[in-house]
Amino acid sequence: MDRIWSPWRSSYVQLKKKKGCIFCQAFKSKQDKKNYLIHRDKKSFVIMNIFPYNNGHLMVAPRRHIAEFSNLTDEESLSCLRLIKKSYNVLKRVLKPHAFNIGLNLGKDAGAGFARHLHFHVVPRWRGDTNCMPVISNTKVMPQSLDELYQKLKKEFEKK
Ligand SMILES: [Zn+2]
Repeated sequence: MDRIWSPWRSSYVQLKKKKGCIFCQAFKSKQDKKNYLIHRDKKSFVIMNIFPYNNGHLMVAPRRHIAEFSNLTDEESLSCLRLIKKSYNVLKRVLKPHAFNIGLNLGKDAGAGFARHLHFHVVPRWRGDTNCMPVISNTKVMPQSLDELYQKLKKEFEKK
């Protein structure tokens, strides 16, 4: 199994080794399209996971660089939850998944790939996708399909 998705893993490991924070870098950069940053709110933002568990995997992060969940302010908590709800609504309309996983991986032992900057996962799910997920994510993550999906989701996000 590992062999099958080794390209996915090696690029992911390379990304993790990069200095700095991938969330802060994306947020500070003005190149939203290049960073797949979909939407900015006052206290948080939505970004596509470029190494997704599934098609349409989005992440919602507070603007502030914090790792500890307890340190989220009430304002940030509300802002994150609003964007999670918005992501859910947009993904439902655009991709029509059968189900969702929404949540946090806190700490490496819980499966957090990048633990330094808190982020929520919004993952659309389709019936029967469980067993072939790593393979699906490996084959689906072509730059072009990510770009296409980015445009579609961004457009939907901008609607009221
Ligand atoms: Zn950060």
